[in-house]
Amino acid sequence: MSFIVAIDGTSGSGKTITARMVAERLGWMYLDTGATYRAVTYWVLKQGKDPENEKEVTQLLEGLDLDVKNTEEGQRTYVNGEDETNKLRTDEIDRWVTPVSKMTTVREWLVRVQRKIVDGKNAVVEGRDIGTVVFPNADLKIYMDAKLEVRAERRKKQKGEAKDIEEVKRDLLRRDYHDSTRKDSPLKRSLNALSLDTTSLSIEEQVERAVSEIKHLNESTSSI
Ligand code: C5P
Repeated sequence: MSFIVAIDGTSGSGKTITARMVAERLGWMYLDTGATYRAVTYWVLKQGKDPENEKEVTQLLEGLDLDVKNTEEGQRTYVNGEDETNKLRTDEIDRWVTPVSKMTTVREWLVRVQRKIVDGKNAVVEGRDIGTVVFPNADLKIYMDAKLEVRAERRKKQKGEAKDIEEVKRDLLRRDYHDSTRKDSPLKRSLNALSLDTTSLSIEEQVERAVSEIKHLNESTSSI
């Protein structure tokens, strides 16, 4: 028996850090699925292919092997055996992950990869379509959001860039828009998801809310 926590939400709402810390507290696996979309995008660009050409991108998937490992420094993402984690959060990938993650072939391929990575484990999985598509029967679904200003401040700090805050906001709005209006698996709150507005919550508080909900739902799990 495995227990799956699905965390979805907008960019910068705190999904990744919350998922990671909840999983660490429980000794479970965590999976940042955004990194898998970024990894495909990275590979497409590295191979000199057009990230807006579904045929070219689909052909590349055949020779692609993606894997992740949880380590003390967080999730490491492997592309054909190479740890490419540090190359996945660039502005270039931020820009091109949008058209790549719109492609149905990419989504179907990655959903299979994500399910295989988590198979049989207790896990906290975060992304945009986890509670709606990847694990619609997840034991707990959480939907995270926060005010744009707060998300932009967090993103700016995380990236450590001297970027103009208005530019960071525009990028977040652009990604929110594309993520929630695409035809295949748009970002949306699952009806039975617990809503978590993180605007004025600390990371510790976010983690505490999620962990107490999991404990409440699963009092008898020995690993908690
Ligand atoms: O979460 P992160 O910002 O790393 O995600 C990068 C992009 O990957 C998102 O903007 C979205 O387009 C895509 N994504 C997705 N489905 C997921 C996770 C991420 O489409 N489950």
